[in-house]
Amino acid sequence: MPTARLFYALWPDPPMAQTLSTWAALAQPHSHGRPMRTETLHMTLAFLGQVEREIADELIDATAYHRLQPGSVTLDRYGVFDRPRILWAGPAQTPDGLQASHDGLWLWLSAFGFAPPAQPFRPHVTLLRNIERHDPPASAPPPLTWRYDRMVLVASESTDGGSRYRVVARSRPQPG
Ligand code: ATP
Ligand code: MG
Repeated sequence: MPTARLFYALWPDPPMAQTLSTWAALAQPHSHGRPMRTETLHMTLAFLGQVEREIADELIDATAYHRLQPGSVTLDRYGVFDRPRILWAGPAQTPDGLQASHDGLWLWLSAFGFAPPAQPFRPHVTLLRNIERHDPPASAPPPLTWRYDRMVLVASESTDGGSRYRVVARSRPQPG
């Protein structure tokens, strides 16, 4: 495989993913669309797109030594992105720590030749795709605090049934 489609993400633990899947189910009667499978739910930190094999291998090695500053983000609202027609869960305000980790990650990635996107960081977990309404459900379930201490590097692979994600590296959790 000459290239891989890669992204960095926070991956929820199974109970958190389960709760997020409930958020999707609760929104579905309102928004319609297709729920993401529970085991695929994630928050993207940096989308890299197609990456040459050589760089991908370097990233895989380096990611294991990257330390993400631990933090938390409270998901407390639903939102909609109209163009990709997705319904998401996200924080009303991006926590400073998460923003700093995002910015730090892109700075770190610049050493590998990647440039950050022009658009601001909009942390979100995609819950439903191909939604049929422009407005999100008016109220969200009780806020959900997500504590994280590492990120994962994921390869997104095209299959007959759509994209499949494969975790190819994990950053190192903080000691102690
Ligand atoms: P598909 O595109 O085949 O429907 P997908 O969107 O799940 O599947 P990818 O397009 O590989 O898979 O995206 C992986 C992750 O990166 C998703 O969380 C997606 O929202 C995010 N992503 C994709 N493209 C971009 C982009 N241009 N900017 C920011 N994030 C992106
Ligand atoms: Mg996509």
